[in-house]
Amino acid sequence: MTEDKLHFIDEDMAALKDAGLMINIRTIGSPAGAWMVVDGKRVLNLCTNNYLGLANDPRLKAAAKRAVDDWGVGPAAVRTIAGTLALHVELERRLAAFKGVDDSLYVQSGFCANQAVIPALVGREDVIFSDRLNHASIIDGCRLSRAKILVYEHCDPQDAERVIAENIGQYRRALLVTDGVFSMDGDVAPLDQLYEAAARHNVITMVDDAHGEGVLGRGGRGIVDHFHLHGKIDVEMGTLSKAFGVVGGVIAGSRKVVDYLRQKARPLLFSSAVTAADTAACLAAVDVLEESTELVDRLWDNARFFKAEMQKLGFDTGQSVTPITPVMLGEAPLAQRFSRRLFEEGVFAMAIGYPTVPQGLARIRVMMSAALSREDIAFGLQAFARVGQEMGVI
Ligand SMILES: *Cc1c(COP(=O)(O)O)cnc(C)c1O
Repeated sequence: MTEDKLHFIDEDMAALKDAGLMINIRTIGSPAGAWMVVDGKRVLNLCTNNYLGLANDPRLKAAAKRAVDDWGVGPAAVRTIAGTLALHVELERRLAAFKGVDDSLYVQSGFCANQAVIPALVGREDVIFSDRLNHASIIDGCRLSRAKILVYEHCDPQDAERVIAENIGQYRRALLVTDGVFSMDGDVAPLDQLYEAAARHNVITMVDDAHGEGVLGRGGRGIVDHFHLHGKIDVEMGTLSKAFGVVGGVIAGSRKVVDYLRQKARPLLFSSAVTAADTAACLAAVDVLEESTELVDRLWDNARFFKAEMQKLGFDTGQSVTPITPVMLGEAPLAQRFSRRLFEEGVFAMAIGYPTVPQGLARIRVMMSAALSREDIAFGLQAFARVGQEMGVI
């Protein structure tokens, strides 16, 4: 009898289950809003990246519907052959103006944006300085580039400068890349000091602002705006899939850099363009953000309120200074049981464990949203208090 060549899968799956790391993928049966239908049950949504409630906003939906009538459903080409619609060009112009840069590029996702940028800027003879906790899509982009990857300690500009100074002489070009807001902890990179360290050694700088876009800065203009670093950070990449409520990635920077990426970015050359409906919905999101800061202000009010109340209850919310609120629990099986009990209490908040976060730092990650009312948040806090007491966490 020959051995099953896929037997390793059985072993790996059993190991995941034993470690409490098997992901329970839930099925969503309604739009992302304050309340959602999840696996057939109506629950409070503390789990999506719908920071501003735009994922189900009537203005965005209307724009998407109109675009389907005007443009059909698919562009049927990659951007560099026949897929660049006037809508894409308009969105890129509007996003550049919103963020205060020369130009921008709209790609299929934030994940794609990192794959588009990093291998275009650095290669085999170059070096990348990367924060220890950078997002997986940054890490994959770095690996694809074949540049040497040197890690500096998390959010530590002094360590970044040490690693730069010790190594830069051996390479042709250098790139420093960091998350803006770290998606699992909700802390913010000290981008001003990282910029200074990089500038002293003439290192190219890039920030992944996936969780800062629509959240940080004036009216959600992002981390570069937050730190007043306009014109200093060479590449800002972000996503339109989180606070913007739609889908797609954005790469923003100088005309020189963006024009170069139009020639070199592989997701632009080898994968079809984003649909007209999504692009039109993103344009409507820019309209909403430029019109008023109301949603961004409400998001921050809710975030401050929720975090303060959780701390009063005795929960450890880690290093967060943003609407991302980790509830630190330690071991993954405990976090999974906690999440299941919250779900029974009518609250949807997922447990996050290794490899998304380090071993022993499992947590429930709560995402605050402008879509939540104070009554909704109070409901969530009561559920956390009940489950936390029952499980001996508080
Ligand atoms: C979510 C996220 C991405 C990926 O964005 P998508 O548009 O969902 O592909 C990239 N970087 C960071 C830091 C993220 O949190």
